[in-house]
Amino acid sequence: MLKSLQISGFKSFAKKTELEFKSQITAIVGPNGSGKSNVAEAFRFALGEQSIKSMRGKRGEDLIWNGSAEVSRAGRASVKVVLDNKNNLFSAVSKATEGGDFEEAVIERVVNRDGTNEYYLNGSLVRLKDIIELLANAHIGASGHHIISQGEADRILSANMKERKEMVEDALGLKIYQYKREESERKLAKTEENIKQVESLRREIAPHIRFLKKQVEKVEKAEELKNKLSKFYREYLKREKIYLDTQKNQLAKEKNPVIERLVQLEKEMEEAKRILANSAKKDEKSEELIAIENKIKNERDSRDKLYRDIGRIEGEINANRRNIERIEAEQRSEETKTIPLREVEELEKEISQYSEVTKIIQKIRDFIIKHKTNFNSKNLNEIIENNQNLENKKIEIEESIKIIDNTLTNFTAEYQQIKDSIEREKDSSREAEKNIFKISGEQSETRSKLELLKEKEYRLNLEENDWKLQIQEGGVLLGTAILGFENETLTEENQSENFSSNNFTNLEPREKQEERKKELERMKIRLEELGGAGGSEVIKEYKETSERDAFLAKELEDLKKSAESLQQLIKELLEKLDVEFREGINKINKTFQEFFSMMFGGGEAKLEIIKNYKLKAKNPIEEEIENTEEQKPEEGIEINVSLPRKRIRGLDMLSGGERALTSIALLFAISQVNPPPFIILDETDAALDEANSKKYGDMIESLSKVSQLILITHNRETMSRAGIIYGVTMGRDGVSRLLSIAFDEAVTVAK
Ligand code: ATP
Repeated sequence: MLKSLQISGFKSFAKKTELEFKSQITAIVGPNGSGKSNVAEAFRFALGEQSIKSMRGKRGEDLIWNGSAEVSRAGRASVKVVLDNKNNLFSAVSKATEGGDFEEAVIERVVNRDGTNEYYLNGSLVRLKDIIELLANAHIGASGHHIISQGEADRILSANMKERKEMVEDALGLKIYQYKREESERKLAKTEENIKQVESLRREIAPHIRFLKKQVEKVEKAEELKNKLSKFYREYLKREKIYLDTQKNQLAKEKNPVIERLVQLEKEMEEAKRILANSAKKDEKSEELIAIENKIKNERDSRDKLYRDIGRIEGEINANRRNIERIEAEQRSEETKTIPLREVEELEKEISQYSEVTKIIQKIRDFIIKHKTNFNSKNLNEIIENNQNLENKKIEIEESIKIIDNTLTNFTAEYQQIKDSIEREKDSSREAEKNIFKISGEQSETRSKLELLKEKEYRLNLEENDWKLQIQEGGVLLGTAILGFENETLTEENQSENFSSNNFTNLEPREKQEERKKELERMKIRLEELGGAGGSEVIKEYKETSERDAFLAKELEDLKKSAESLQQLIKELLEKLDVEFREGINKINKTFQEFFSMMFGGGEAKLEIIKNYKLKAKNPIEEEIENTEEQKPEEGIEINVSLPRKRIRGLDMLSGGERALTSIALLFAISQVNPPPFIILDETDAALDEANSKKYGDMIESLSKVSQLILITHNRETMSRAGIIYGVTMGRDGVSRLLSIAFDEAVTVAK
């Protein structure tokens, strides 16, 4: 298994030195201080030992050949351990060196003066970890149970129970489980730390999420309300528009005829007034009438005078005729009669007072009768002529009367005409007055109708303004969606065929729409209370935060799962450790007992697992310190021995030799249960007497069947059991040298 060791620049091995291990037992012999222990330490070094102290140094540099008067110091120390890999025991070799089947596993460690280390596996630079894993797989543990340094033989005896347990575990190859367990525990601790962090993070954001959730609920409520309101709003606006349009149309329909009527009435009034104004001319006509009346009177007066003249003339004519007749008669009777002028003038005066012709004629007749007898003296001719003249005058006057009659006829006709006209005008003025009265009545009635309509119009305008304001407000509150109100379908009870027609609002009492408006306002207030529309930021934040929370929850779940599986793994590892440990202890005990009774010719030796013990303090001060620390009860290993024929129990009562034998027996027992490929024993046999050296030799031989042995020794008996003996010498130059020697030489060399 172990093929060779190559040392170069390590400690006293200034020059490259190679040891081959062709035998199962190799002995290394030589005088004190020649460098034998350095060989054992070279093994430790190459196999990854990290404690410089265990290699008797303080710093890495102490491991490098430090030079002497003759040989200058080295820059680096290198040790190679060559192991046989025919059985592919070091499967990790190919893994670590990236492929290739290797017959040998060459482990090399180099330390430089600056303290840096390099590890090589078959010439490839690897990490220490790779080396440790590789060796652990081959039961070459780091605790170095397979390399027993000088004076360390009874280390297992002097160690405390816990340390012993570790040593046994290491020897049993359980360390790998321990590593895994520790790693799992580290991972678990980290996982639990993460769990705590995630939990605390979740706790931290939880109130925020709750707060956001409430906000979001509010926003959603607001959104819902907003949608409801939006629809309701559009419906309201549409209804209002229909109402306004209808009302306006209706108003226009009502108003236009009223205005037209008013215009008409105004015209009629003007006309009536004009007519009334015209009737003022009747006074003029009255004057005209009076003038004509006067004219008629004048004409009549003239005519009366003319009639009187005619009467007088006719009287004169008659008187003349009678005078003529009388004269003629007188003439015939020659009788003539004369009437004084004074009397005639009196007569004339008298008749002039009469207007009636007959009276005038009577007077004249009376006068004539009275004066009949006096009249015949007048000149007849004169009278005739006079009469002729009177006749002419009479005709003349009659002509004038005729003219006057004509004039009167004309005047009367004219008079009648004016009078008729006046009558007529009187009628029409009365009509006009009546009309004016009637018209003004209708006017005021129509005006008040118009006022009513205007009032209605005013209210309608107010309503329209309100409607416009509602649109604006709605736009601000709910966005432009509100403007689509005209396309809104109305959902409520009035969705009949009639609804779209303009008279639909007539079907619906106005109060309903007013009720709707109130509801609208209530909804607006509620929306305001809910913080209005919007809030997409809150929703976004809630989404992000709850996504983060969900992510954390998922992470927490994963972490918990992995914590669980780690706990499970740890549990399994512990179980495995426990089982294998107990099995191992049983096996060790069997061999330990054999070796022990072989050594002591009887007696009993046994390892015992102690549970839940408390580590004993080494001194009172430590005790105090340890007691203050929380110490969890652990398992440990107690060694129980009883020597044959001696009443000795317990390790403390053993002699130095007995102690050495016991520890050797135990070490060998442990090694046999899970044999490492090689064991290096540095003067474990130093304390043995001859008889015991023989027994030790026997043990070595049986041990060599399972592990290769490298024995650093001064013991003759031990040397005798070795297949190969190396002698180590050191010259004046301080350099250790190696020589392969025969057994006979060895005894001398050893000294
Ligand atoms: P013993 O039989 O007394 O146990 P040994 O053969 O085991 O002796 P070692 O202890 O291996 O001897 O060797 C000790 C020698 O190695 C000492 O002489 C010491 O000076 C030498 N030595 C140790 N470290 C170095 C170093 N870095 N450079 C040179 N020499 C060193």
